[in-house]
Amino acid sequence: MYEAKANGKNGFEHYSDSVGRLLRQKLQITSDLAKALQQRDLSLAVQPKLNLLDTAVFSVEALVRWPHPTKGFIPPDKFIPLAEESGQILDLGRQVLAMSAEFVASWKKHNNADISVAVNLSARQLHDRHLLNDIAVILNYYDVDPACFEFEVTESVVMDDVEASLSVIKALKKMGARFAIDDFGTGYSSLSYLSKLPIDVLKVDRSFITNLPENQEDLAIVEAIISMAKGLNVEVVAEGVETHGQYLLLKDLGCEHLQGYFLSKPESLQKYLQSPWRFDGSVLSSCIA
Ligand code: C2E
Ligand code: CA
Ligand code: CA
Repeated sequence: MYEAKANGKNGFEHYSDSVGRLLRQKLQITSDLAKALQQRDLSLAVQPKLNLLDTAVFSVEALVRWPHPTKGFIPPDKFIPLAEESGQILDLGRQVLAMSAEFVASWKKHNNADISVAVNLSARQLHDRHLLNDIAVILNYYDVDPACFEFEVTESVVMDDVEASLSVIKALKKMGARFAIDDFGTGYSSLSYLSKLPIDVLKVDRSFITNLPENQEDLAIVEAIISMAKGLNVEVVAEGVETHGQYLLLKDLGCEHLQGYFLSKPESLQKYLQSPWRFDGSVLSSCIA
């Protein structure tokens, strides 16, 4: 029944061994995750965002990591949707926020400077009536400035209920935090809504970057997004930049914020605190355009 529902309304699904196996796997992950949340086993990786306009500004995206005791590393794409379904995402989200706030505080102590951290919010988190209070309590506990935080929500989640999203975005901005639309280009934005939403950042989805510089259609889309973002006075970030060629092209197109394996893979918080990432350009000399 759950499989049929997940595949859309008015559908049906035969019970088979593979459906049963899938269901048992899901239940296992959900019950293991409950244990991991209770034991505070989750950790964070951070991936830097390069700011070509001001290389002194450090910003990173916080990405949750689950080192499973027997199954090794389980990717977020496998357990975030299940946590969303079960409601565990609310607890997970608070833990991610607390780890991010602790990171901002430690960074300040070690480096005597601010760092900006982008935290992902799912649909359920965005519409949770305790969200704003939770954020205020956690940031206050770690004594960190809300201006150091950016909240990323995917385009499809924002556009799914624009009015409800708008009131949360406004409240987050009032608090002093920034707001980003994630995976932009995949979620059928209404352009008239887009101009009314007080967003700070558009993150171009990785799928449009992957086939650059060769793919002319993707190039046209990326160019259009960059020029639209500039017109709206919104910062634009290219995600999933993996090659030197993509880096040079995006720079030429006027995309001033870049994120991806070409610059750095996500790394543990501890690593960043011990030896923070610096973009010294040396990586470029070992690459062929
Ligand atoms: P996302 O928010 O779009 O995060 C970017 C994903 O792309 C990350 O995967 C990152 O490791 C990966 N990535 C970054 N640069 C590159 C690149 O150059 N090439 C390729 N192939 N991949 C790259 P990750 O860490 O596996 O996270 C997957 C998704 O899980 C995230 O997508 C986000 O939607 C979700 N997620 C992760 N952490 C959290 C969290 O704390 N809360 C919530 N609600 N969702 C999270
Ligand atoms: Ca994100
Ligand atoms: Ca993304």
